[in-house]
Amino acid sequence: MQVIRAPRFSGFCGGVKRAWTIALRTRAVTEGPVYLSGELINNGPAMHELEERGLSVLRVIDGEVPAVPGTLVMRAHGESPVTFARAQELGLPIVDATCGIVRAVQQKAKALEESGWQVILYGHHDHPEARATIAYTQHGLIVDSLAEAEALTSFERIAALAQTTVLLADYDQICEVLKTKTSELANHGQICAWTRMAQEEAAALALECSVVVVVGGRGSSNTRRLVDVASEHVPTYLVETVEELEPGWFQASSVVGVCAGASTREGDVASVMARLETLGQEMNVRTAE
Ligand code: SF4
Repeated sequence: MQVIRAPRFSGFCGGVKRAWTIALRTRAVTEGPVYLSGELINNGPAMHELEERGLSVLRVIDGEVPAVPGTLVMRAHGESPVTFARAQELGLPIVDATCGIVRAVQQKAKALEESGWQVILYGHHDHPEARATIAYTQHGLIVDSLAEAEALTSFERIAALAQTTVLLADYDQICEVLKTKTSELANHGQICAWTRMAQEEAAALALECSVVVVVGGRGSSNTRRLVDVASEHVPTYLVETVEELEPGWFQASSVVGVCAGASTREGDVASVMARLETLGQEMNVRTAE
């Protein structure tokens, strides 16, 4: 068995690395409790580690910030203006770990609406980034699918935006439908470069392999897109941790590609790589016997 890792874009992206560092540094230098406004990143095992290291998750929904006695770290996906305002009203010290790319999309959504555009964002209704971004507008809409885009009424001018982790090809299809809903469509969609390149790498890796393992959180949008991309070519399995690897997925002749979502810790990728190497050696020994 041969094991190949996606060479450049697997594991923590810049935005996650920054949020992780900010959260842990805040914990280290702050007296009293430190809270996260929600899951800092979409990865269960990584969030478990942060909780073990003294960061508590508040899970703020729609600006309902509880009156807690501590510092509040805003997560990488961003939070709504209502959440920031409520935390300020409560006098909570705020540390903002919003990814700069997400912050730019939020500001763009607000500015476009103020200039008279109907903002329509392609993203997932239940995803914290999409919800927080659209909360910077008064009338912005999220569309999650082609069917939802087709069901829209018409608007004078539409400004299209995208959740930073969606597939570019899917977003382009949504824009084609939006063109039929207005005489003026401005395309401002910005898929994060890390996400795009990770998807390209996953597709290229899948072409070289007979099976792909994606390491990452089940709730992570960018991780699920890697699964979508790789599974177009070969059987693809998503694991959060090494314990979930099933030996039955592989054969001695397998060429296994490993890639990882933007919120996957290096240790989780390394453990999966090491386990696959061991499995491969065991299979080679059995084949030789
Ligand atoms: S995937 Fe891109 S947009 Fe999302 S946190 Fe990472 S760098 Fe920021």
